[in-house]
Amino acid sequence: MNIYLNNKFVAERNAVVSVFDHGFLYGDGVFETLRAYHGRIFRLDEHLKRLKESARGLEISLPQTLPVLRRHLEETLLVNHLKNALLRICISRGYGPIGLDPALCRKPTFVIIPRVFKGYNPRQYHHGLKVSIVSVRRTPPPALDPQIKSANFLNNILAKIQAKRNHADEGLMLGVNGYLTEGSISNFFIVSRGQLYTPGVDQGILMGITRRFVIDLARQADIPVKETRLLPSDLYKADECFLTNTSMEIMPITKAEGFTIGDGKPGPVTRLLREAYQEQVRLECRI
Ligand code: PMP
Repeated sequence: MNIYLNNKFVAERNAVVSVFDHGFLYGDGVFETLRAYHGRIFRLDEHLKRLKESARGLEISLPQTLPVLRRHLEETLLVNHLKNALLRICISRGYGPIGLDPALCRKPTFVIIPRVFKGYNPRQYHHGLKVSIVSVRRTPPPALDPQIKSANFLNNILAKIQAKRNHADEGLMLGVNGYLTEGSISNFFIVSRGQLYTPGVDQGILMGITRRFVIDLARQADIPVKETRLLPSDLYKADECFLTNTSMEIMPITKAEGFTIGDGKPGPVTRLLREAYQEQVRLECRI
């Protein structure tokens, strides 16, 4: 695979950054994950906008303008002959002597890592995943703005470790106030009596691009949506539950801890939204 590194494409084995890169030393950087369908990047503008906002939140100046960045993403697909792919953009503070002061780094390091996307196992969509509510809490907004998609993902990694230990596919984190927030790499929704519920942005979650899209799809389908506060008991009692993110789209959840959600199968609202999602992808990506 050819990796875009700073201003050129390099072979994977040559795609290396310095041990003095502040991304490595301090997790001082931001990232985005995008998905391409048939050579077209889905919701590209939204991802670029979020990347810009994340970088602004850390006072990292983007090394390129958004139209140039967009071109490099598209080139990355072409150079690697990729149609269905995940693209990870990483921007770090850059190379500089040890020390926290951002002024030590002259320019950001900019990387695009492409991956072939083979899709999740269809069995997972068919049977649904298991989630676990982990003890590690979502970093509260006063500590770090959740809209900054920073390279420092430590509490999410701890959530993942715990979820695996609990034999779950994803770990849901509570906020410091005890309400549910989001998964380690996903937002989540529940369905109860025909209504869709998801933690509000004021609960300290990342405003997922997929989350927003799913809320819009639900409203178009006349399914009421409430962005609110949810407790673990709301999840256990729900008729349906699903996760959202760019790569898995809408993934049903059928087990949470020892509880079976609904009748243990992906429910009708989840299936309807998943179909609407895929229809919109086909339209936007001209498949
Ligand atoms: N929350 C977290 C913590 C994430 O890492 C992600 C993945 N980017 C999401 C939610 C979902 O965001 P999106 O729908 O934009 O992929």
